[in-house]
Amino acid sequence: MASLAQMHTAEHILTRVMRERFGATRNFEMHLTERKGKCDYDVARDLAPEDLAEIERLVNEVIARDLPVETETIPLEEAREKYDLWKLPEEVQEVRIVRIGDFDATPCAGEHVRHTGELGRFVIVSAGRKEDGLLRIRFKLRPAG
Ligand SMILES: [Zn+2]
Repeated sequence: MASLAQMHTAEHILTRVMRERFGATRNFEMHLTERKGKCDYDVARDLAPEDLAEIERLVNEVIARDLPVETETIPLEEAREKYDLWKLPEEVQEVRIVRIGDFDATPCAGEHVRHTGELGRFVIVSAGRKEDGLLRIRFKLRPAG
């Protein structure tokens, strides 16, 4: 079983891959447990088995690079210019940014691992269209090796 910090870090990597390769703007709804993660993306086309294999490959490449996961806190004004702050509570004055090496930087208040190599192997369990039109991807993390 994975930890929530592992699942959460995997979600950042997956969301970045979905944006770069499939044009998703963001992860609209997510539900993470130690066993399974569910993420919903606005991807117009249906994904073929080859696409799912490519997503797994790209996420696992980032894990294999063992990138450092670091956080920094920046003023709200600066964060507004650089990031998609759609989920932010209104009263905050500073925003915590979670940086995964040179691969991704995303505002987030959650718990994460310190290096991507701690995630093990990323596996997609299933992917399918929901009634609201969003594409739901279910994933898990398996121990490496
Ligand atoms: Zn996070």
